[in-house]
Amino acid sequence: MRRMRLKAALFALVFAAPTLLAQNQTIRIHADSVLDGTGKVLRNATVVVRGSKITSIETGNSTNATYNLGQLTILPGMIDVHAHIGWHFDRDGRYAARPGTPAQEILSSAENAYVTLLAGFTTIQSPGQSNDVELREAIARGVFPGPRLLTSIRQLNERSGTPDEIRQKVRQLKTDGADVVKIFASASIRDGGKQTMTDDQLQAACGEANAQGLRTMVHAHSPESIRASVNAGCQQIEHGVFATDDVLKLMADKGVYFDPNVGVVLQNYLKNRDKYNGIGNYNDEGFAYMEKGLAINAAMMKKAVATPNLKMVLGTDAVAGAHGHNADEIVERVRQGGQKPMDAIISATSLAAQSLRLDKTIGTLAEGYEADLIAVDGDPLTDITAVTRVAFVMKGGNVYKHVSPATTRANR
Ligand SMILES: [Zn+2]
Repeated sequence: MRRMRLKAALFALVFAAPTLLAQNQTIRIHADSVLDGTGKVLRNATVVVRGSKITSIETGNSTNATYNLGQLTILPGMIDVHAHIGWHFDRDGRYAARPGTPAQEILSSAENAYVTLLAGFTTIQSPGQSNDVELREAIARGVFPGPRLLTSIRQLNERSGTPDEIRQKVRQLKTDGADVVKIFASASIRDGGKQTMTDDQLQAACGEANAQGLRTMVHAHSPESIRASVNAGCQQIEHGVFATDDVLKLMADKGVYFDPNVGVVLQNYLKNRDKYNGIGNYNDEGFAYMEKGLAINAAMMKKAVATPNLKMVLGTDAVAGAHGHNADEIVERVRQGGQKPMDAIISATSLAAQSLRLDKTIGTLAEGYEADLIAVDGDPLTDITAVTRVAFVMKGGNVYKHVSPATTRANR
């Protein structure tokens, strides 16, 4: 039985491969249920794709579907706005804190990109390292499999200099092709999460980014660091473990995106403790902070979900050990914070696309959008864990995965 399933899965993958070359054929993907990413549910629907784009969505029975996915649920390819695609464990099994050879580094990023794509994430934003640029371009050429990649290339922090020097660094990031500016406004949770950059430094970073038309994402844990970042005109706050009702409301009022990370990152560190412990601030004290962080995160998440009009986007802060498990964040936001499954799905699709300023091209299933779509085993509106059982992945009209639902369950 297992053998049969494996054979079926292999057949599906081999069978799928020619579509990489069949860019101008029409592909019809049918399922009993389609979520469009903006909150709409279509029953008995067919997504019609030509080349890299969706040309229409039809409802009613389909007798000529290229892929009849039956009881699977189709949704837009998921988006993770915060995944450290280069982080990996070394050949000794330990976290690779120092760079290895360029070949080891880029191959690790490539492996992570591939498993992330197969987990249903067709776009990710990496808060950045320099070889992201080569990876981004290799994936964009359309042959090497991976999610669409956006990167900050580097980061700014309290050691980035005077406000003038910071403004110069932001301009250099733009010249170097950064998609976003990553800013550290506070210490790590392992060091207590207090504000580290001055208000002047934050205003220089986000002010210049705004002047250059660059987006910003800010690592901030303490309420002070969140408030200072929002007041400096920054667009997105990451983590926010110690966010209070006040700063959650401030973000909502100012239309600042919030990306809490409650389902993957700390759980992954604790699960892989032996692989990190003893490196930098991954020490007993740091792990004690992270253990406490689980409950603090859960309480914060409840408050965030209860904050009206807060634009919460899906990001995981995936590091070594977490790649391919990105969808656990969606499950945990629903489980811990009581977020409605549909809202959690929107946060990982159309709203995440909006935060990336890509909402006219990805994150929604509609005519004219990129054909980035996945199918999951089950109905995520009644069982959110369905988002972790990805049976079908198409990106830009190419099929990268097509396995039987039984395979998705066996692989969990
Ligand atoms: Zn991060």
